Amino acid sequence: ENDFFLGKQAMRESNARSYPRRIPISIKEANGIYVKDMDGTTYIDCLAGAGTLALGHNHPVAVDAMKRVFAEGGPLHTLDLTTPTKEAFIDEIFSSLPEEFAKRAKIQFCGPTGGDAIEAALKLVKTATGNRTILSFQGGYHGATHGTMGISGNISPKLNVQGLIPDVHFLPYPYQYRCPFGIGGDECHRISSSYIENLLDDPESGILPPAGMIFEVVQGEGGSIPAPVEWVKEMRRITQERHIPLIIDEVQTGIGRTGKLFAFEHAGIMPDVIVLSKAIGGSLPLSVVIYDENLDQWGPGAHIGTFRGNQLAMAAGTATLKFIKDNHLVEQVAYLGSKLMQKLKGLKQAFPVIGDVRGLGLMIGAEVINVNESPDRQGSYPANPKLAGKIQQECFKRGLILELGGRHGSVVRFLPPLIITEQQIEEVAAIFEDAVKAAVQ
Ligand code: PMP
Repeated sequence: ENDFFLGKQAMRESNARSYPRRIPISIKEANGIYVKDMDGTTYIDCLAGAGTLALGHNHPVAVDAMKRVFAEGGPLHTLDLTTPTKEAFIDEIFSSLPEEFAKRAKIQFCGPTGGDAIEAALKLVKTATGNRTILSFQGGYHGATHGTMGISGNISPKLNVQGLIPDVHFLPYPYQYRCPFGIGGDECHRISSSYIENLLDDPESGILPPAGMIFEVVQGEGGSIPAPVEWVKEMRRITQERHIPLIIDEVQTGIGRTGKLFAFEHAGIMPDVIVLSKAIGGSLPLSVVIYDENLDQWGPGAHIGTFRGNQLAMAAGTATLKFIKDNHLVEQVAYLGSKLMQKLKGLKQAFPVIGDVRGLGLMIGAEVINVNESPDRQGSYPANPKLAGKIQQECFKRGLILELGGRHGSVVRFLPPLIITEQQIEEVAAIFEDAVKAAVQ
C-alpha cells in the first residue's frame, strides 16, 4: 500500500528505486527545512537527504561558497590534484578534529559516496594489518557496494546477492530495546562487551585475526540506535589492547548531527580511522577517510577513482563546517534533540504502539510495535513495519517527510536539518502526533 508511482517518468525508473515509492512527489523548490512539489505543496523535510543537509536546502552560506568558486574561475574538477579550495577544506576539517587525533591524522579523498570511503577504510586496515576479517555489528549499515553491503548487518536485499565479501564477522550491537542477549537496560551493553572480549581472546572461536572493527556510534539506517558511551569506551579499550584498528563510521553521525561535531567525541575516545561523507560536502557529494598515520602503509593508487575532488562540495563543505562552529550549532542540536526526544517520549506514554523512542542529538527514532501479538522473552513486542508505513503516510499527507529505518522498517526516523528551530520542532512533533492518532484508528 506504500507503493506509489509518479507517472510516466517514474515508471521508467529502476525497480530498485526506494525513496520515491513512499514519497511520491516531484520536488521543484527547496529552502531550509522545506521542499515544495510541482503543485506548490510545501513539506517539512525531516529526511534531509538521509542526514546530508546539515544546514537545510540551499543555505546561503553553502550556496555563496559555491558561487565564489565560479566567480573566481576556479576549477570544478581536478581528480585529486591540489587546489586552494582543497587546502582550505583540509584546514577546516583538521581544525575541527580533536587535537590529539589531528596531530597524527592523514586524509584520503574518496569517491562521491560514503560507501566508497568505507571501501577505502577496509582496504586501508587490511593493508596495514595483513589480516582479512572485518568485525562488524548486527544492524550496522555501511553502504550498498559489494564490500560495504557485505559488512552491513541490516539490509535484506543482501540476501539476494551471492558472493558478497565473506571475511566479516558480525558481533552483537548494544540495542537495548531488542538486546541480542535478551536482557534489557545497561546489562545488555555490558554483556555485549564482555562477550566480544572473550570471543577475541578465544583461539578456538573460529575468528581469524581481525583486520579491523567498524561501527556507528549511533546506528542510523539500523533504526537510530545509540550505543552507550561506556560500551563505545570498552570497544576502544578492547581493540586497542589487541592492536585491532577501530573504524568509526561517521557518515551519518558526523558534522554535528548527534550534538557533538563527531559522535565518537561523546565517549571521549580516539578512533584509528573515521569515515565522513553526507554533511561533509555541504549538500554535494564528497567523502573522506581520516586515519592515524601509523596505518598509512598503502601506496599510491591504493584507492583511486575519478571523482575525488569535487571542488564545489569542498567549498560548500568548508563553509558549512565553519558556520556550524561559528554559530554553536552543535550545542543547539543537543538542546533541540532533547526537546524532540521529550515530546516523542510523551507520545510513547500516550500511544502504546510506540514501543521505544531513542537517539542522540537530531538523530531520533520511534520504533513502532504490534501490541496485539505476544512480547518476546525480553518483554518487547514485535516490530510493526505496516503501522510504521501508515504513520509515515499520515505524516506525508500532513506535510511532513520522514523516512523509515530499523530492521524491519518499523522505526520512524527524524533527521531534520540542524538549522531547524524550536518552533519547527514543535510543529514536527504535533504533525507526528496527529499522524499516529490517524494511523491507529
Ligand atoms: N555509512 C552510514 C552510517 C550510512 O548511513 C550510509 C548511508 N546511509 C553509508 C555508510 C553509505 O553512504 P552512501 O549511501 O553515500 O554510499
